[in-house]
Amino acid sequence: MSEPTPSLYQKRIQIHPRSVKGQFRNLKTGVLVLAYLVFFLLPWLRWDRPNAPDQAVLYDLPGRHFYIFGLTIQVQDIFWLAGVLIIFAILLFFVTGLAGRVWCGYFCFQTLWTDLYMMVEKWIQGDRPARIRLDKGPWNREKFIKRGGTYAIWLFIAFWSGLSFTMYWVDAPTLVVDFLLGRAPYAAYFTTFFLTTTTFVMAGLAREQVCVYMCPYARFQSAMFDHDTLIISYEAKRGEGTQGRAKLGKGMKTREERQAQGAGDCIDCGYCVQVCPVGIDIRNGLQYQCISCALCIDACDTIMDNQKWPRGLIHYTSENALQGRKTTLLKPKTVGYGVILTAATVLLIWSVVTRSPYTGMVEQIRQPLYTQLSDGSIRNTYEIKLNNKLTAPMTVGIRIEGLPGAVLDMDSMERLKLAPQERIKLLARVQIPPVQDDSGKKNDRDEVTFVIEALEGATAEPIRREVPFYVPEGD
Ligand code: SF4
Ligand code: SF4
Repeated sequence: MSEPTPSLYQKRIQIHPRSVKGQFRNLKTGVLVLAYLVFFLLPWLRWDRPNAPDQAVLYDLPGRHFYIFGLTIQVQDIFWLAGVLIIFAILLFFVTGLAGRVWCGYFCFQTLWTDLYMMVEKWIQGDRPARIRLDKGPWNREKFIKRGGTYAIWLFIAFWSGLSFTMYWVDAPTLVVDFLLGRAPYAAYFTTFFLTTTTFVMAGLAREQVCVYMCPYARFQSAMFDHDTLIISYEAKRGEGTQGRAKLGKGMKTREERQAQGAGDCIDCGYCVQVCPVGIDIRNGLQYQCISCALCIDACDTIMDNQKWPRGLIHYTSENALQGRKTTLLKPKTVGYGVILTAATVLLIWSVVTRSPYTGMVEQIRQPLYTQLSDGSIRNTYEIKLNNKLTAPMTVGIRIEGLPGAVLDMDSMERLKLAPQERIKLLARVQIPPVQDDSGKKNDRDEVTFVIEALEGATAEPIRREVPFYVPEGD
C-alpha cells in the first residue's frame, strides 16, 4: 500500500479568542476608539478656506491639491509626502528596536479592524465557549441568525470603512448623496467596493492568517530586534518550577504547597493561549506569529490576582534580562535612530513652515537666442511661470536688475494679479543697447536677474532668478 501524499498546506485551525480585561486591553481599546474617531469623523470636519473646498482633510486629485487643515499642498510639494513616509519608516525602526512589535499589536489596520470584528462577533454570538459551540453545531435557525447577523454588521462596517476612505478624495457629503443616487464617479464605486471586500475578508475571515502568512513585516522584524528589545515573555523558571507546569489540585493549591512539590506558579489554565488572537502559546517562547498585543499578560495577571500571587508571570522583558543581564534601552543604535528621527521631523516642519506662498520660474527662450533691432539694441525673450499657492488672491511684481541699461519692456509686470491657486505663463522681453567691453569687442553672454516679489496678499522673501542674456558674438 502506498503512503498518502502529504499536503503542502497546513489545515487552518479556527481561532476563537476569549475576551479579557486588563490594562493592555484598555490601552488597545483606547487606541482603537481614537483611531476610529479620527478615521470616520475627519472627512466630515469642515475648515474655513476661502476660494477652496471646505473639507478639513481632502486629497483633491483632479485639482492636484491636498488640503490638510490650513495647509495646501500642491503637486510640486509632494516631496513632503516622501518626507512623511521616511519619518514613519525611521519611527518604525526606532519603536520596534525599543519595544518590539507594538505597531502590530496596537496600531496596525489589520489589528484594529480585526479587534472591532471580534467585538461584534462576541456581542452577537457570545464569548469563546458559546462561539465554539455554535461553530461545531449544525446549521440550525440560531446559527443562521447569529452568523447572518454577524456577517451583516461586518459587511456594514466594511462598506462604511471603504466609503469613509473614499470620502478623503471627494467632498464627503456630496459623495454620500451621489453614491446613493448612483451618480458618483466610477472610481469611487470601485474603491469603496474593493475596500469593502478586502476589509470583510481580511478582518472577518482571514484574520491572523494575514499576520502569519501575508504580512512581510512579521518576517523582517527580527532584523530590527536586538537583545535589549522589549518582548513579551513567560518567566519559565517561575512558572515551571523544577517539575514543570501543574494544575491546581489537591495539595497543590497554595504557593507553598506547590513549591514544596517542585511546581511553579503556572497553573496550566490555558487562559493566556485562549485570549491570543494568533492562537499561540507564549509559554513555548518567542514566536514570529506573536503580534505583541500583550493580551496574554492581562490574562495571566487576572489568574495571578485570583490566586493572590504576584503579577508578571508573563510580562514585558528583554532577552538580556531573561539571561540575567542588564537591559540597556539607550544604546548607540537607538540614540542614532532618535537623532535621525528628530532631525527628519524638524526638517520637514521647517520646510512646511517656511514654504513660499508662491513660486516663480524664469527660462530663456532660445529660438532665437536674441533679436537685434533696427536701432542696434539687443532683445532676449523669457518665459515666466508664476504659481499662487494660496487659496486667496495675491499681487506680484516683476523687475530686473544686474544688467546695466536693461529694460523690461512690459509695464504690466509691475503689478500682476493672481487668482487663488492660479498658475500663469508670461512672455517677458529684456532689451539693452549693444554692449562693448574694454577691448572694443562685444561680449556674447551676460546675465540678468529677475526679481519676483509679493506686493499684496502674501508676505515672503522675493524670488531671485539669474538667467543668461545673449548678445551677438564679437568680431
Ligand atoms: S502571545 Fe501574547 S502578545 Fe503574542 S499575540 Fe498572543 S496574546 Fe498577543
Ligand atoms: S495564564 Fe498564566 S497561569 Fe494560566 S496557563 Fe497561562 S501562564 Fe499559566
